[in-house]
Amino acid sequence: MSAVLPTYARADLEFAEGKGARMTTTDGRTFLDFSSGIAVNALGHSHPHLVAAITEQAQKIWHTSNLFRIPDQERLAERLCDATFAEQVFFTNSGAEAVECSLKAARRYHHVTGNPQRYRVLSFEGAFHGRTLATIAAGNQAKHLDGFGPKVDGFDQVGFGDHEALKGAITDETAAIILEPVQGEGGMRAVPPQCLRGLRELCDAHGILLILDEVQCGVGRTGKLFAHEWAGIQPDIMAIAKALGGGFPIGACLMTKDAGQGLVAGTHGTTYGGNPLGMAVGNAVLDVVLEDGFVSGVADKALRLKQMLAGLQDAHPDLIEDVRGLGLMIGVKCRDTITNAAVVSAARDAGLLTVPAGDNTVRLLPPLIITEEEMSEAIGILNTAFTAVRPSAAAE
Ligand SMILES: *Cc1c(COP(=O)(O)O)cnc(C)c1O
Repeated sequence: MSAVLPTYARADLEFAEGKGARMTTTDGRTFLDFSSGIAVNALGHSHPHLVAAITEQAQKIWHTSNLFRIPDQERLAERLCDATFAEQVFFTNSGAEAVECSLKAARRYHHVTGNPQRYRVLSFEGAFHGRTLATIAAGNQAKHLDGFGPKVDGFDQVGFGDHEALKGAITDETAAIILEPVQGEGGMRAVPPQCLRGLRELCDAHGILLILDEVQCGVGRTGKLFAHEWAGIQPDIMAIAKALGGGFPIGACLMTKDAGQGLVAGTHGTTYGGNPLGMAVGNAVLDVVLEDGFVSGVADKALRLKQMLAGLQDAHPDLIEDVRGLGLMIGVKCRDTITNAAVVSAARDAGLLTVPAGDNTVRLLPPLIITEEEMSEAIGILNTAFTAVRPSAAAE
């Protein structure tokens, strides 16, 4: 019996080390990692540049609090702004806190610009924005809300892709629309570029702020630095995390000066967010991701992997309904004759780590440094896994 609160359904594996796209258990078994700690280890395990950065910083200073200036925090903020729409950044320790900051920024914006009645935020069915009380209200999933008391007020939700419902749901109390350009937990559903452009126009027409949750799809995962770049639009506020720290728990809320005008001194804060140790790692991640050709290289790899997955689907058309997603954020949607959990488990037995997602989808999140050989190896293992879970095979 473990003293850890049993909130997770854990696989019975303990990892002792990782290198690149591989992880080895304490009892010596090696796995190919297409989970990346849920899109966190974007540069794989033990990336030498990250190891050097954290080792060097650990010998200088770890933490000072935000009572003082933190040069690496200012540097990372500047680099993120230079690379995006943003003009200001607030650093957090997690994705949920980055989303929470986005929601608070949007409410405060309307408060200080003379529209305090505007506090409601619209989200989409299938959304996932984190596990704090406000972010579960935004995500609006019954299984996350059940038993936790009244849902935090101020959140409305419409169906994924339901344009009519969306227009009907906007009122003079709407402060912001929040969405993931590619839904992760919801089942790797990409929002079509024309819909993102439509949302931008709708927000502009109604004075609503557009918040993008790129906690999972951001930082190179889709083959652009940020997924919304595929649509050629810009949000007002964006939450990022996961890959930003490459395994060190950091997040960030990026915003325009206009959208952030409500968050003045004293309105928001965090003890750890943006501390020197985390910022050293964040800057090191950006050193690699911003290198010429890195992100476009992700797009090339994604194309190759997609071709390979089309072959896998051809081999198992009765089990695989669809291969979807964007870049190296891929969902293999299973038909209802099998469960995604069975595929994830069979793949794990055969040496490949993947992640289940909503809508009976198997989530593939290889590290962005994945090689062609590793991708074909993964496809081979997935082929074995689908063969193993085929209902007729189970009956034999
Ligand atoms: C993971 C995730 C979050 C929450 O991040 P945490 O670090 O777990 O708090 C929020 N939004 C999206 C889209 C995510 O994938």
